[in-house]
Amino acid sequence: MSLVSVMSESNNTIVDGSVVTMHYTLKLDDGETVDSSVGQDPLVYLHGAQNIVPGLESQLTGKAPGAKLDVVVVPEEGYGPRFDGTEKIVPREELPPNFDVEPGMPISAQSSDGQEVTLFVTSVCEESITVDMNHPLAGQNLNFAIEVLELREASAEEQEHGHPHGPGGHHH
Ligand code: ZN
Repeated sequence: MSLVSVMSESNNTIVDGSVVTMHYTLKLDDGETVDSSVGQDPLVYLHGAQNIVPGLESQLTGKAPGAKLDVVVVPEEGYGPRFDGTEKIVPREELPPNFDVEPGMPISAQSSDGQEVTLFVTSVCEESITVDMNHPLAGQNLNFAIEVLELREASAEEQEHGHPHGPGGHHH
């Protein structure tokens, strides 16, 4: 294979450093649609920068614009297994004043050994909130329907930041 053909191939297919524009629909095994970009702005992400779950990212490698694919991602390559008994009730007194959260929101907290951890709000009431270390989609197979729309090469700045800029990307 000549260098020219290698280069033209990598311009047309998803490799690390590609900025990918795609539509996606995410369903659970029971058919419930959790999230979808269809009918809204497509998702723009930087391939190889862990912007999306690993099991989806690996299946998109080598795909070209126009590709439509169904990808099943097991929990280990998605949002992880679900652990039992990890919910914790946090009284309002222990939260900053006017701490405004909704179920499903991630919040960052310090664990007892000083590590930064992400917790997910599972319920909110007047006296307290309940948080869980499980991602809301932990333990679930993720059934993605994907349509790859566009590709471009990431700029040096995007590579450095680990996310795309411009329409659909990060704004600083
Ligand atoms: Zn940036």
